[in-house]
Amino acid sequence: MKEQNCTNETNPTYSRRNFLSGLGLAAGGTALGGTTATADEKKEVKANYRTLGKTGLKVSTISMGTVGAQDIGFLKFGFAQGINFIHTAPNYSNGKAIINVGKALQGIRKDIVLGLKCSFNVEDDKGIDDALKILGTDHTDIAFFPIQKASLALDPKYKAAAERWKKSGKCKYVGLTSHKETIQVLQNGMKQGFYDIIMPAYNVDMEEEFAPVFAEAKKQNLGVVLMKTKRGLEGMDYNKAIARYLETKPVTTVVKGMATYVEIQELLTASSMKLVAADREMLKEKARIAMTGHCVMCGNCTSICPEGIQVSDIVRCSDYYLSNSNFFEMATETYQELPGRRDAGSCGDCGICEEQCPHQVPIIHHLKRAEKLLA
Ligand code: SF4
Ligand code: SF4
Repeated sequence: MKEQNCTNETNPTYSRRNFLSGLGLAAGGTALGGTTATADEKKEVKANYRTLGKTGLKVSTISMGTVGAQDIGFLKFGFAQGINFIHTAPNYSNGKAIINVGKALQGIRKDIVLGLKCSFNVEDDKGIDDALKILGTDHTDIAFFPIQKASLALDPKYKAAAERWKKSGKCKYVGLTSHKETIQVLQNGMKQGFYDIIMPAYNVDMEEEFAPVFAEAKKQNLGVVLMKTKRGLEGMDYNKAIARYLETKPVTTVVKGMATYVEIQELLTASSMKLVAADREMLKEKARIAMTGHCVMCGNCTSICPEGIQVSDIVRCSDYYLSNSNFFEMATETYQELPGRRDAGSCGDCGICEEQCPHQVPIIHHLKRAEKLLA
């Protein structure tokens, strides 16, 4: 397995000239895989770095998500701005995202920390082997296990895969990621003692309920990556939320799918922002208002639906991917792949789910909307 330059604590960065050369960019140049940056986009914004818990990896405090299958030039632009951690999955954008990530990593693999969501069967090596082949690498730095059910976090197959892949060099570290039953999943997962990193869906409105999770992560010296952090906050409010996330211990980095060059630079700028007490108060209030009516993926509605409908998965497609993130393609693909989506037709409008929802989400509206727009 090849050594990585960026992955030790004392030497987090790389020669900018060599790095840009690896990207196929001249220092100060602007040709980005067929895309040309404007004068504003050329402005250099400095990334900050932190140690990812016990891994010792030094990663940028803003990292790139790839749900939207950004083009290769866009990913290279992010790397050129100093972002050195990228996260992808074989199923993002119907397989397009992982192909683009593989191409963007050519020539610079050793400088980038790669996270791979293992959205495939982990009981054998076919899934990870196929993913690594597409990525053009012999290993992922972090293999993330996506677990959305608390009881599943206790399944020994994950520990077995972690040990097997670490031993064979297919991954260096193992992470646990979750967006449903999140707190219980993380608590069960951390009890297993083999994780190096956690990556929960998180937002400002969850600070209090996450306190015990973060305390345990700190105790175990785990790296903490936050995802799905926007949740109704826009513009400067979201920039301040980024600053708030990064002042929350032991958060290491915020992973975010980015849609424009300017957004990359805004996020990097936000990562250096200092908040005052009034900002924190304002954010709390705005997050509370923004989250009212939006799903936090707690899973309550699914567990109580008398028809056995996978309610929260369907709501996630309509509310998170469509309303919140504007990822129409992702919303459609995810919805069409949901095993139980056809069951939505058996909803009897009983309203129990809406009564029990802690965030007053118009669930029935989302079920109907998903079937109308995403089917
Ligand atoms: S719709 Fe409400 S009850 Fe269902 S997962 Fe979302 S927040 Fe929880
Ligand atoms: S309204 Fe529909 S989705 Fe909600 S609990 Fe009743 S049957 Fe299930």
